[in-house]
Amino acid sequence: MKNLIKGGIEQDGKVLPLVEEFFSIQGEGFHTGKPAYFIRLGGCDIGCKWCDSPFTWNPDLYPMVSVSEIIENVLKSGTDSVVVTGGEPLMWDLDLLCKELKRNKITTYLETSGSYSLSGEWDWICLSPKKNKRPLDEIWPKANELKVIIGEQEDFLWAEECRKKVGKDCILYLQPEWRSYKEIIPAIVDYVKRHPWWRISLQTHKFMNIP
Ligand code: SF4
Repeated sequence: MKNLIKGGIEQDGKVLPLVEEFFSIQGEGFHTGKPAYFIRLGGCDIGCKWCDSPFTWNPDLYPMVSVSEIIENVLKSGTDSVVVTGGEPLMWDLDLLCKELKRNKITTYLETSGSYSLSGEWDWICLSPKKNKRPLDEIWPKANELKVIIGEQEDFLWAEECRKKVGKDCILYLQPEWRSYKEIIPAIVDYVKRHPWWRISLQTHKFMNIP
C-alpha cells in the first residue's frame, strides 16, 4: 500500500491523477495490434531525456479522478483490456483500480519503469527499465516483457545488463527511441541478427497516427 502525497493530501488509490484515457490499439511490444483502453496517469520523476510524454511528469496538473468513474468509462468503451501507463503509474497505489478491473473481467496490462514498488494485480507487466532510476529488485522476475529503449550505441550494453535480471520466460524487446528512429534502426536490426534472443518493437501507433 502506497500513500503518496499530492496537493498536500495523502493518496490511497481511491482517486488517481488522470492525464487522459482513450480506447485505441496497443502499438508496442508483444500485444501490438490489439485493441485496448489506455489509462494514462500523471507523475514521473525519472526524467528520460527523450521522453515523449513529459506533460505527464507533474501530477498536480491533472484532476484526481475516482476509480469508480474510471471504471465506468472503461466499461462504456466495451473493451476487455486495459493498459495502465504514464508517467510512472506505480507512483500510485493501483490495488483498488485493478481489483475493480478484475471484478469486471477486464485483462490488466501495466507499462512501468519498475522504479516504484508494485501494486495492483496484473495479467501482463511490460517493464521498460531506465538507467537513471533503475527498477527495484522485486519487479525484474515479474516482468512478462522487457522493453529496452535504444537511442544510442551504449544502450545495447544496458539492454544486456537488464536481460540478465529478468526471468527466463520474459520476452525481450529492443525499441528504437522515436526521435532517433532513422539513425538507430540499422544498428538495432544488425544487433538483433547477431543476438537473436531479442526482438524489435516499433511504436506502430505513431506510424498509424493514433494515440
Ligand atoms: Fe517519460 Fe516514461 Fe521516462 Fe517517465 S519513465 S521520463 S514517462 S519515458
